[in-house]
Amino acid sequence: MKIKISSLSDGVHNFNFDESVEELGLEEPFHGNFKVDVELNKLHNQIILNANLTLNANFDCDRCNKNYDDVLTSSYQMVYLSGTEPIDNGAINIIYLPFDADKIELDNDVRDYALLAIPMKKLCKEDCKGLCSNCGKNLIEGDCGCEHNTVDPRWLPLNELKNKLNNN
Ligand SMILES: [Zn+2]
Ligand SMILES: [Zn+2]
Repeated sequence: MKIKISSLSDGVHNFNFDESVEELGLEEPFHGNFKVDVELNKLHNQIILNANLTLNANFDCDRCNKNYDDVLTSSYQMVYLSGTEPIDNGAINIIYLPFDADKIELDNDVRDYALLAIPMKKLCKEDCKGLCSNCGKNLIEGDCGCEHNTVDPRWLPLNELKNKLNNN
């Protein structure tokens, strides 16, 4: 993804990209096409770029193991300045362009922010209940009828005693 800037007038410009994740070099969990909506604001030797990413991904749920599709979004801002980069440039969101630069490249930034969009916790549903520890049924599909209240271990001896008494 490139944006030609050599003949760009001052002001706001919009660009839309729609490409396959393979073209960007992204692998699993990403699949299909992704979109990048770019708003670019040019003022003299400065360009402020705002990008919104939309990607399709496929995960296995951390709780119930079900495979599910998800749409991930991510956004970032990048400032492009003309000139030589100062030695102490610690700003990660500022890129220095040579004065004769005719385009800006988006691939690396889009790839980085796509990877950042992968959630730490992958859940098929916000309230996924996971699998029943007793029968293994996916509790999102309905209750299995098992007892899900775990018994406080301190009461176990008492329960045993009760069973004994009932059997006699
Ligand atoms: Zn789940
Ligand atoms: Zn069960």
